[in-house]
Amino acid sequence: MNEDFLKTPIEYLKGVGPKRAEVLRREFGIFTYNDLLYYFPFRHVDKSTVYKICDIQTEGNYMLFKGDITGYQILGEQRTKRLAAQFTDGTGTIELVWFNGIKWIEDVLKQRHSNVTIFGKPTLFNNRWNISHPEIIDPSAKNETNIPDHFFPLYNTSDKAKKSGLDSKGVAKLTASLLIQHKYSIFPEYLPKELIENHHLLSLKEALFNIHFPENQEKLSAATLRLKFDELFYTQLKLLKLKILTERKYRGHIFSHIGSSFNYFYHNRLKFELTGAQKRVIKEIYADLGSGRQMNRLLQGDVGSGKTITALLVMLIANDNGFQSCLMAPTEILATQHYENIRKMLGDMPVGVALLTGSTKTTERREIHEGIQNGTIRILIGTHALIENDVVFLNLGLAVIDEQHRFGVEQRAKLWKKNSPPPHILVMTATPIPRTLAMTVYGDLDVSVIDELPKGRKPIITMHLFERDRLHLFGLMKQQIDLGRQVFVVYPLIKESETLDLLDLQAGFEAMSHAFPLPHYAVGMVHGQMKPEEKDYEMNRFSKGETNILVSTTVIEVGIDIPNATMMVIENAERFGLSQLHQLRGRVGRGGEQSYCILMSGDKLSTEGRQRLHAMVSTNDGFEIANFDLKLRGPGDLQGTRQSGILDFKIADIVKDEKLVAYTRNLAKAILDADPNLTKPENQIIATRLQELMKREKFWGMIS
Ligand code: ADP
Ligand code: MG
Repeated sequence: MNEDFLKTPIEYLKGVGPKRAEVLRREFGIFTYNDLLYYFPFRHVDKSTVYKICDIQTEGNYMLFKGDITGYQILGEQRTKRLAAQFTDGTGTIELVWFNGIKWIEDVLKQRHSNVTIFGKPTLFNNRWNISHPEIIDPSAKNETNIPDHFFPLYNTSDKAKKSGLDSKGVAKLTASLLIQHKYSIFPEYLPKELIENHHLLSLKEALFNIHFPENQEKLSAATLRLKFDELFYTQLKLLKLKILTERKYRGHIFSHIGSSFNYFYHNRLKFELTGAQKRVIKEIYADLGSGRQMNRLLQGDVGSGKTITALLVMLIANDNGFQSCLMAPTEILATQHYENIRKMLGDMPVGVALLTGSTKTTERREIHEGIQNGTIRILIGTHALIENDVVFLNLGLAVIDEQHRFGVEQRAKLWKKNSPPPHILVMTATPIPRTLAMTVYGDLDVSVIDELPKGRKPIITMHLFERDRLHLFGLMKQQIDLGRQVFVVYPLIKESETLDLLDLQAGFEAMSHAFPLPHYAVGMVHGQMKPEEKDYEMNRFSKGETNILVSTTVIEVGIDIPNATMMVIENAERFGLSQLHQLRGRVGRGGEQSYCILMSGDKLSTEGRQRLHAMVSTNDGFEIANFDLKLRGPGDLQGTRQSGILDFKIADIVKDEKLVAYTRNLAKAILDADPNLTKPENQIIATRLQELMKREKFWGMIS
């Protein structure tokens, strides 16, 4: 193997030179031979199959035809000047059109018109099929590269690159020259022989060759599989290795027992029976906390599955072992609500709880800082205000992050630094991520799942109504209110103009106030631009039942828990993403009553908008919704994951290759379990490659 060779700067490749090298670097990020080899084509054109004209069905596919040119004309003037030729293979006729190089083409056609092979992309024009600028394949021409070219690679390129001759074909030529020039000497192998054999994989050399210039479809598939395997296998190895490293580096506080505050709460204060899933998760966490290593755990659970109470019980265990804990929430409204709920749930228990947010007054803030430092405050709840530098704990043993997807990796890292050794970390999220994605995005965390809703919950009934059904909507709302229940009405934030958004909201508020007039009904309103006191005031009125309807922006999206609210109306629902719709719906259905979610939309809907609303109507299951969302939008859009860079795969697709993700995860785990330091001779290749990869990536340094 000769890796150094692959690090050769790209300008040294035959046919490149300094000027093109600059273009390759700037336009494609190709700096070395290796980068070029890993610049994969996005698809291949099949020149091995001869199609019939009568078989053309859709636009957009490259196809090869054999037949005769029966005539041609030169039409138009100046800019519209073109050569049009008629081509038939006996099953139909298509027109071939050239706008450039007309003279040259005319010469070609004079020499060759019967029994020609043409290749191009049929498009429909004036209801007739035609191909512009088809390639006329000369059967006598030599294949200059000696590379099989009946599956021709297509590469992404740019206008700038094309000016330097680096269109798709130009890139293919360079790749071919690299592969041919060094066919037998340059290729490294990154997987142990045994592993390759056991899995019937292609060698890396064969895979790289065939990913660009496959001999046939099977070879192309095998090459794709091999390269995906590499990518996913090493991603999982990195993640697991990182986990091992942090476990070794950081010893954890040992929470050795469950004491009086947990027990008192559990037996005297808890108003309901925990679900089986909640109990199981608490056990999983407790086992972690006693193990002597620092816990880094993700707690997943659909909206309403009861994560808060689970976190509270764990915080009480921390307290019983002499440690403080904190709970960080993404918004002030949510932090305040957590604080109030937890205070209420603890009741008369002598456990110091405080709330710290951006709007905590200076004097109060000073008192809180003191209480945290001297240990009278046992549980600190707040927004990201609680990770600021001047917040110093006496002994922080546990940090809980609610709605993790709203925070970045940096915030998690900051919490680590709040204590030495670092606190145990429990991150909670209701954005359900499919298992394979969780394995990868949060691959350095252990995962617990609350996969059961509290008993007696009735599935929320979701409906999609149009603007013309508004009176029907009012009727449904009235029904709920007359039963003593409450209704949320949410408007989207469009962000283009905050004032316009506010006007929308204001208009909505007025329409609702008009339809539900005083003194019979009361309508409240909250939005992001209100002062915190005003927001609190309105939220409190609603939560006490003093208002029947709360008109709001998405400030109420996450976490808000008002069991008496049984209807969620979402205006302009087509403007929301799926996960956001699901979060909003999760604000109702929290008590024992039948709840409803009503999606209002205009009459005109995009296909995707329609699909999204349909998905919401057809299922309440957050995991199903997340899967659907991934298929619709791809993983790149997943909240909170983009910055991790971890989904930047060249060839693998974390959604479509779900099985391979799981497979490589297990394989990587088995290898590391048996040989954590990768010192066994058979793992030598893996160790070297892994080291190389981990050196390259800054991201990993940030967490560990
Ligand atoms: P989420 O997981 O969305 O954060 P919450 O923790 O806000 O959910 O819980 C939703 C509601 O369910 C709260 O009112 C909570 O008190 C209640 N709850 C939690 N666990 C149970 C349970 N085991 N039985 C009944 N109600 C529960
Ligand atoms: Mg919650």
